[in-house]
Amino acid sequence: MSTKDPSGLRPETLAVAYGYDPELGMGSVKPPIFMTSTFVYPSAQHAKDVHEAYFKGTGPLVGETNHIYSRLGHPGLDFLEKRLAAIDGAEEAVAFSSGMAAHSSIALAYVRPGDSVLHGRPIYGGVDMLYNSILPQYGTHAATYTDGTDEEVVRAAAQEAMAKGPLKLIIAETPANPTAAIVDLDLMVRIADEVGAQQGHRPLVVVDNTLLGPFAQRPIEHGVDLCLTSLTKYCGGHSDLLAGGISGRKDLIDQLRLQRTTWGNHLDPYTSWLVLRSLESVAVRMERAMSNAVGVAEFLRDHPKVAGVTFLGFLPEGTRERAVYDRQCKAAGSTFSFHVHGGEAEAFRMLDKLKLLKLAVSLGGSETLICHSATTTHYALEPEQRLAGGITDGTMRLSVGLEHVDDLIADLAQALEAV
Ligand SMILES: *Cc1c(COP(=O)(O)O)cnc(C)c1O
Repeated sequence: MSTKDPSGLRPETLAVAYGYDPELGMGSVKPPIFMTSTFVYPSAQHAKDVHEAYFKGTGPLVGETNHIYSRLGHPGLDFLEKRLAAIDGAEEAVAFSSGMAAHSSIALAYVRPGDSVLHGRPIYGGVDMLYNSILPQYGTHAATYTDGTDEEVVRAAAQEAMAKGPLKLIIAETPANPTAAIVDLDLMVRIADEVGAQQGHRPLVVVDNTLLGPFAQRPIEHGVDLCLTSLTKYCGGHSDLLAGGISGRKDLIDQLRLQRTTWGNHLDPYTSWLVLRSLESVAVRMERAMSNAVGVAEFLRDHPKVAGVTFLGFLPEGTRERAVYDRQCKAAGSTFSFHVHGGEAEAFRMLDKLKLLKLAVSLGGSETLICHSATTTHYALEPEQRLAGGITDGTMRLSVGLEHVDDLIADLAQALEAV
């Protein structure tokens, strides 16, 4: 396999070898890491042609992979971006130094003073801060929807956004962190079309697919414009790097890639290599993590010290959320939250008793991570805002990893005795 035609191959296959051609690496089966900041030109005319192709998209070198300077692009990024686009089923992809670098690059590319954005809540804290604390300092506005499956709620929120300024972005994180609130992607696309007809230009639909990742949910197939993934999480998969990726149509991705040259937030050669490598196994890692998660969630649901479990796999039949889940998700992921009876004291006693599960923020690593939401990931919110998002003082988020499920359950069982 090579960098050639991905058509007809399934994402699991593309993830293993697509994007790197051994011809480019002196025959090595795995890609070399090109640890260089700059690239030599064979001639002065070639140098001119490379710059013309990069900045103007014209000239004899259009489409060739020639490099100038690593901030503008390097071979490791080419391999990774080709593979990520193929896995996501998109025309192109672009990689950044973190998931938040990807989010802020979208904002900088598409939102201008006076514009508005629409996003769901709860949403990743960094994204909430970007659109509600940072960008408003540059004159932008935000409106939010809380039930991303309710057509009237989302439509009303879109009108509220448009009343503040031209609506440029509709952002959905689904399932949302940490409550697994689900957002209907087909609905987001429909609302974007309606808004486009009303205001004369269509907002882009941006989906943060970090929690389920490229195999359990495929946003591009639902017609969204940009699919963003914090590659730090399941795609990186080992809690040892930070990276972000965006997939979508060529014209949108080209614009983001060109801007990345100036913002300087590209992904470096070594981390690009690590992510490329991790993408080979993300499908099988997710399968194991997700089957473990079902076992752990069922154990917690039936435990007398546990007040509730927010797990996508438990969405009741006959609900609107369940209908969206069945249409949109192939599986329930391995990150969910549960609430112990009692509050902070009970939760802390349990956390401090854990021996195997690690007390840390982040998710999607090979090891199981757990954290107390109110005092860590959602520390900055007011208690009322937390409660509105379903977070109590007894809520903990769990990212189930690859250990043996019986060992995970045994550790939780002994710790829960302290509640
Ligand atoms: C972690 C995360 C991000 C931010 O990604 P970083 O790589 O940490 O910058 C964005 N969205 C979601 C849903 C996340 O979980």
